[in-house]
Amino acid sequence: MPTLREKIRTLLEEYAQDARALSRALGIREKEIYPHLEHIRLSLKVRGQQLRITPYQCRLCGFEFKNRAKLHPPGRCPHCKQGSIEPALFEIRTSRGRGAKASSD
Ligand SMILES: [Zn+2]
Repeated sequence: MPTLREKIRTLLEEYAQDARALSRALGIREKEIYPHLEHIRLSLKVRGQQLRITPYQCRLCGFEFKNRAKLHPPGRCPHCKQGSIEPALFEIRTSRGRGAKASSD
């Protein structure tokens, strides 16, 4: 039986989705998703994969949290000081060229 993290990985390899969608799919709370994502993000590097993040975005002014290192949602927008934040999307991509078998040429 796959572990929770394996299930999350499988879901994110299929398509990009936010933590709420993951929490619904897995039957756990949304805030429990983030520590798992953090762990998955670290473990992916070894596998030649990466966690792609479509950043959180302010619904009011459009500010994108592009340089946010943390995965859990920000409380409010630093630009307009409002708390209406569009959720980030997470997706697992296999990076090309690294860890792949060398071609014969
Ligand atoms: Zn804003």
